[in-house]
Amino acid sequence: MTTSPTSEKKELVLKGVAASPGIAIGTAYLFVKETPRADERALASDEEVAVEDERLDRAVLKSVKELTKILAFAQQKVGDAKARILEAQIMVLEDPVLLTSMHKRIKKERKNAEYIVSEEIGKYARLMLAAHDEYMHERAHDVEDLRNRIVRNLQQEKLTSKFDGSMIVIAHTLTPADTMVLSRNHVLGYATDMGGVTSHAALFSRSLKIPAIVGLGDATRSLANGDQLIIDGYGGTLIVHPTTERLAEFEAKRQRFLAFEANLSQLRDLPAETADGHRIELSANIELSEELEYVVVQGSQGVGLYRTESLLIGRDDFPSEDEQYEEYKRVVDRIYPHRVIMRTFDVGGDKLAPETAEEANPFLGWRGIRVSLDRPDLFLSQLRAMLRASSRKNLAIMFPMVSSLPELKKAKAFLRQAKAELKAKKIKFDDHLEVGVMIEVPAAALNAGALAAEVDFLSIGSNDLIQYLMAVDRGNSLVARLYDEFDPAVLATIKHVINAGQKQKAWVGICGEMGGHPLAAPLLLGMGIDELSVVPVVLPEIKKIVRTLRFSDMQKVARDVLTLSTGDEVRAYLRKVIKKACPDIPLDDTVRG
Ligand code: PEP
Ligand code: MG
Repeated sequence: MTTSPTSEKKELVLKGVAASPGIAIGTAYLFVKETPRADERALASDEEVAVEDERLDRAVLKSVKELTKILAFAQQKVGDAKARILEAQIMVLEDPVLLTSMHKRIKKERKNAEYIVSEEIGKYARLMLAAHDEYMHERAHDVEDLRNRIVRNLQQEKLTSKFDGSMIVIAHTLTPADTMVLSRNHVLGYATDMGGVTSHAALFSRSLKIPAIVGLGDATRSLANGDQLIIDGYGGTLIVHPTTERLAEFEAKRQRFLAFEANLSQLRDLPAETADGHRIELSANIELSEELEYVVVQGSQGVGLYRTESLLIGRDDFPSEDEQYEEYKRVVDRIYPHRVIMRTFDVGGDKLAPETAEEANPFLGWRGIRVSLDRPDLFLSQLRAMLRASSRKNLAIMFPMVSSLPELKKAKAFLRQAKAELKAKKIKFDDHLEVGVMIEVPAAALNAGALAAEVDFLSIGSNDLIQYLMAVDRGNSLVARLYDEFDPAVLATIKHVINAGQKQKAWVGICGEMGGHPLAAPLLLGMGIDELSVVPVVLPEIKKIVRTLRFSDMQKVARDVLTLSTGDEVRAYLRKVIKKACPDIPLDDTVRG
């Protein structure tokens, strides 16, 4: 029987999204941030208008000062790139156009400063919230934070963010500034109702190496200050009022993980080579060039997937060829001498689109290479930008969402055209750069041999491949439990792609999330995969797994697994393999295995 340390309180397990790895055990500090009220008040005289003007100037100045202090602190703690979000907030505040327009409105509408600030800045937040895009939603919260800061300063209220001792911070939502200010205390972990893994609170926590969970729904409503908590930042679970047994179990896990992580840094410069000398390539997936430093620190051998469409975030036009060239050059220069595989824009589906097309089934619609082939100007300018950045010979290009051979041939024809255009202008590039195709559509998987004959490599996009194979929307929580990377159909498909590709002398990698799953790595290795491209945070762990295993053993594991008939059987088998070969690997039974 399990017992509870506070016997009247029942243990509660809440599921969120793992945002920063690690385990934290401690008590809750509920960070409650009331949205300051900005009631409308009419001004009766010119004197009152002057008073409001002055109040506004003072509040803005105070907000700039506060943010500048937080910025200096952030630069020290997380580095310039991430602190830039705060710099952007300061720039908005110092923008004379915004300030002038607020003063004008106070004068013209004869309304109090709180109301005008709320209206004027709220306008931007509303616009951002209207966009169907997680990134824009996160930025809208940053803008709302800015508005609340000024209004709070107008009312001269102080937000308390100080606590004694070590605590786990629980909040409905956390802005970048909140995360930084709170981190002056001894924060053991963060858990928030809102936010995705791309939220800046998540980003900061990863940089600060503080375990975090986001997207807990309405967890804060059921929590109180001082509640005993466990954050499992690997599995994305928050355990409230843990039993004594649970506490002991997680304390042991925490100690093991700490020891495990301390050892990982020794792996940084070592290759991803099995104990019996079989070497694969272990590279990282990136979305933004800001992630490059982290990728290097994590000991990556290169970038296996650069999602270039992230350049389109926050803008409504396409970046020019020169702008793209600058960005691509920055990435290849930083990663040199290792290779960077750049994927041409994968827009559409659940991602950004160049124009708003109303589609009943966007995932089956105009996305990836289909968009590029229909918009030759955009496609050619991206290809030219990539080619221009390739002169150090460490850049490869791959095409997303290809479903048939004619499509691949058309994409290659565009690449030839882009090369010819550059040659005509005598611009240098790597004429022999590697070209690859992503295998994300079942038709492409079945036809992998024919596609491979046309390219240098195949990269399995398991995120989409599984969604299309299993007919399960990858972002729909209603059917999330049907999305199974270990389903025998998925495994047979992957094995087929590896064999078919290699038979045509193309190397085969995987860049979907599955490649970074600690249970999938031994299996993929045994199936003969040439490259794993994973999210940077799991890279050392996967390297450790690869270096611990024997290739010959994993080939047998792969053969055995391919005879099993359900995903559960596969997982149970692989869990045993990992537990035996690498007992210190943090496997969470509920989520990661
Ligand atoms: C994939 O589908 O596995 C993939 C890597 O592409 P994305 O997740 O960007 O669709
Ligand atoms: Mg994909």
